[in-house]
Amino acid sequence: MNHSDKPATIAAHAAGAIDAQSGGVVPALQPSTTFMRDADYNLLRADNTYSRDNSDNVRQAEKVLQALEGAEETLLFPSGMAAIAAVFRTLPNNAEVILQSGIYWGTTVWVRDFCQRRDVKLHEVDAEELPQACKAIKANLVFIETPSNPWLKTVDIAALRSIIDGLLVVDGTAATPVLTKALAFGADIAMHSATKAINGHSDVLAGVLSTRDPGTAMWQAICADRKMAGAVLGPFEAWLLTRAMRTLPLRVERMSQNALALATFLHAHPRIDDVLYPGLPHHPGHGVARQQMNGGFGSLLSVLVAGGRNEALAVIGKLNLFLRATSLGGVESLVEHRHTIEPDTGIPENLIRVSVGIEHIDDLVADWTQALAS
Ligand code: PLP
Repeated sequence: MNHSDKPATIAAHAAGAIDAQSGGVVPALQPSTTFMRDADYNLLRADNTYSRDNSDNVRQAEKVLQALEGAEETLLFPSGMAAIAAVFRTLPNNAEVILQSGIYWGTTVWVRDFCQRRDVKLHEVDAEELPQACKAIKANLVFIETPSNPWLKTVDIAALRSIIDGLLVVDGTAATPVLTKALAFGADIAMHSATKAINGHSDVLAGVLSTRDPGTAMWQAICADRKMAGAVLGPFEAWLLTRAMRTLPLRVERMSQNALALATFLHAHPRIDDVLYPGLPHHPGHGVARQQMNGGFGSLLSVLVAGGRNEALAVIGKLNLFLRATSLGGVESLVEHRHTIEPDTGIPENLIRVSVGIEHIDDLVADWTQALAS
C-alpha cells in the first residue's frame, strides 16, 4: 500500500492485511488470548503478549481505520459508547465540559451521569450556540456530533477549533471517515460508532478513536485505560470489521446517493412537512456540510410526516423494505420512531428517523410511495 492510495483502494486491500504464513489474500483469524515465549523466555513476537494488550486482528482493523482517517494512531473499542467513555474517563475531577445538545441520546445520558458522579461541570449547548459558548467557557473538552443524530445538525469543526483551547472530540458516526476526516479540520480526536456504517452489516458492535498526536497526555491515558480497564474488541469482531470495511467506501457512496434521492423525493411529497438532511439545499447546515463532507452526505435523515404521532406510526407500520429497528448505517434500510425511544427530549412525535441502505433506489421510493398513499 502507498501513502497516497485513495480510500477505496485502502479499504479493498484492508490496508495491506494478508496472511503471510499461508499466502492467503485475506488475514487469518487468530483468537489466542495469550502468546508464547521461547526457552530463553523471550516472546516469540515482541508485540504479542496477551490479547487485552493487543492482537493481530485488532491491529489490522485499526490500520485500515487509521489510513482512512488520516490519523497517526487509532484504537478500537468494543462499542461506540466504550470509546466515548474512554475519552471522558481521562478528565480530572472538577473539569469543565461542553457537550452538544440533541445528539445521540445514549451519549447524553451517559455523559450526564458521569459528570455528576465525577464533579465535572457540564454545559449542554445547542449546535447553533456552540461558537458563543466555546468563547465564553474555558472547557477542558468540547464534544460534538456532526451530522447529529437524529436532528442532522452540522457543526463547522474548523471554525470551532479556531476558538477552543481545550480538546475537541468529534463523533462523526453519521459521516464515517470516508466523508469527513475530522482530524484534518482540527479535531483532536475523531470518534465513530463502528457498529454503524463502518461495519455496515448490523452484526458487529465496535467503536473507534483516532488522533493526529499520540504523544498527548490524554491519548496516553486513553491507551492505558483501554489496556488496563480492558475495554478491548475481540479478535473475531475485529476480523469481521476488517472484512466489512473492504466495501466501506462503496457502501457509503451508494447509501449517500440513495439517501439524497429519497430525501429529495420525500421533501417534494405533499404528506411530508419537512426532511432533515444536510444534502438538501434548504437545510440550514448544507453550506457547512458541503465544506466538510466530501463525496456525499451520509445515510441518515429524519422525516417529519404531516400530522402527529398516529400519522407517523401509520406510515412506519406500512413500510415493508424499511425494517422497524434502531441503529443506522447498515446495508439494509431501517426506520425508527425516535419519540417512542426518547419521549422527553423534544423529538417531534411526527419524526421518523431513516437509515438508508444500499437497496435499489426505485424499490426504496416505491415503498415510501405506498406507505404514504392514503
Ligand atoms: N454515536 C452515535 C452518533 C450513535 O448513533 C451511536 C449509537 O447509536 C453511538 C455513538 C453509540 O455507539 P454504540 O451503539 O456502538 O455503542
